[in-house]
Amino acid sequence: MSTQNPIFIPGPTNIPEKLRRAIDYPSIDHRSASFHEMLKPALDGVKRILRTREAETLIFPATGTGAWEAAVTNTLSPGDKVLAGRYGMFSHRWIDLCQRHNLDVEIVEAPWGAAAPADAFEQILKADRTHSIKAVLVCHNETATGVRSDIAAVRRAIDAAKHPAMLFVDGVSSIASMDFRMDEWGVDIAITGSQKGFMLPPGLAILGISPKALAAMESATCPRCFFDFRDMARMNASGGFPYTPPVNLIRGLSVSVAMLEKEGLAHVFARHYRIAEGVRKAVEAWGLSLCARESRLYSDTVSAVVVPNGFDGTRFVTHAADKYGVAFGVGLGEVAGKVFRIGHLGSMTDVMALAGIATAEMVMADLNFPLKLGEGVAAAQEFYRTSRCAENASDVCVAA
Ligand SMILES: *Cc1c(COP(=O)(O)O)cnc(C)c1O
Repeated sequence: MSTQNPIFIPGPTNIPEKLRRAIDYPSIDHRSASFHEMLKPALDGVKRILRTREAETLIFPATGTGAWEAAVTNTLSPGDKVLAGRYGMFSHRWIDLCQRHNLDVEIVEAPWGAAAPADAFEQILKADRTHSIKAVLVCHNETATGVRSDIAAVRRAIDAAKHPAMLFVDGVSSIASMDFRMDEWGVDIAITGSQKGFMLPPGLAILGISPKALAAMESATCPRCFFDFRDMARMNASGGFPYTPPVNLIRGLSVSVAMLEKEGLAHVFARHYRIAEGVRKAVEAWGLSLCARESRLYSDTVSAVVVPNGFDGTRFVTHAADKYGVAFGVGLGEVAGKVFRIGHLGSMTDVMALAGIATAEMVMADLNFPLKLGEGVAAAQEFYRTSRCAENASDVCVAA
């Protein structure tokens, strides 16, 4: 695999030079004031990215999976009921993690390519008169299928049922790339990691925790130690960590937040939309479709492209890596072999996206997909050439 080429997997993402330099830093004493000076801007910055004033933000040395575990073990007890939709590999894995912690998961199955089933949640919550369901778990952007779910709609479903369940949201492949509003959507725990929208190497589990979720912690009895929110919050308050912190990544996180805010979050979201839209124009020109069932569900961070019958999405990915040194994402779980995924999040430009689209075309031509070289590239070029990002809208690109 070439390290010169950009990568097109939906995380880890390409790392901007500025962040690589930020994490290239000598060891410091993590019990000194220097560490506190690094930690505070990172924690405060994450708050702004999550769009929350109320929540506490915590960072653990882990990945998104660790954040899933931290969320449920700190706030729930074995046997507690949680409600979750399964519509892709990541929603599936979070459900599996809950089951292994002996939580009772009520699963709503939805097709892979569909969104979180807010209407079904509302019916189930309405029927749960004893309020046995303690939390609703939603994967905001299902990275396996390239589907974005409507978190505000899930919040409305919980409110319409007048149900006190907490709302936990996996925003690992959406936060810092797509619109996310923790307070406005009434999210009780928001989850992400360092290696996606924050454009850093993997290694940080990042959480926002509402006052309601913090209160739930006091009576929750799932065993926890490394991920105990109370230990972390207490130590953070005095500028420290309960164990050796991932100093370099935390330093990188504060620089990442500064980069995102310098670009402007609205612009970051518009850029992701615009790049994704160019990729979608290419997919359309290839005569292929996305795994996401409707255009309103399209993710701006990853596109899962359905391969024609008789072709193999995994072979596409291995061929791209072997012949061109370019990484795309394979299909996972139910859609293994049926799709290949183009990750277009984080540090990405129109020009980088065009390189990915052009490579995908060469790979498909090599594997005898029915297409003519240049069709997708031309469609994306035309879109990038004639549209620009609107600065103050999260999802608008207008004709130049
Ligand atoms: C990447 C990802 C995760 C976390 O995976 P890790 O490998 O543990 O960081 C969780 N959920 C979604 C939606 C993801 O895209």
